[in-house]
Amino acid sequence: MTFHEFLIETKREELIDVTEKVREAVRASAVKDGLCVVYCPHTTGAITVNEGYDPDVRPDFLLGLREAFPDRREFLHAEGNSAAHIKSSVVGCSETLIVENGKLVLGQWQTIYFCEFDGPRTRRFYVKVIS
Ligand code: ZN
Repeated sequence: MTFHEFLIETKREELIDVTEKVREAVRASAVKDGLCVVYCPHTTGAITVNEGYDPDVRPDFLLGLREAFPDRREFLHAEGNSAAHIKSSVVGCSETLIVENGKLVLGQWQTIYFCEFDGPRTRRFYVKVIS
């Protein structure tokens, strides 16, 4: 089984460390050498890889995005979450990672994050491991 779906509960705006869940999916797949795709099927969420060592990176990341893409009264989208849609596309809906010797290859300080830009919601993300 190389396709895994995970459910998570999110706050208004946050980065959630999903690295351990992705490692679980890689272990369960038994793939030794291949690729692992982590995919967010939402239009106001995203997947990224960034520093996990200093917890201050997460709020700084969100602050930077809020300042780069503020809510604007000129936005037309009736749901009122256009800034979240923009952040979702800028950060991106997936990451492709390397699986080597049955393990995920990540840099020493790297963490895989699910990014919430318009919570709180129940979200899902997918992990596909390909040999
Ligand atoms: Zn919307």
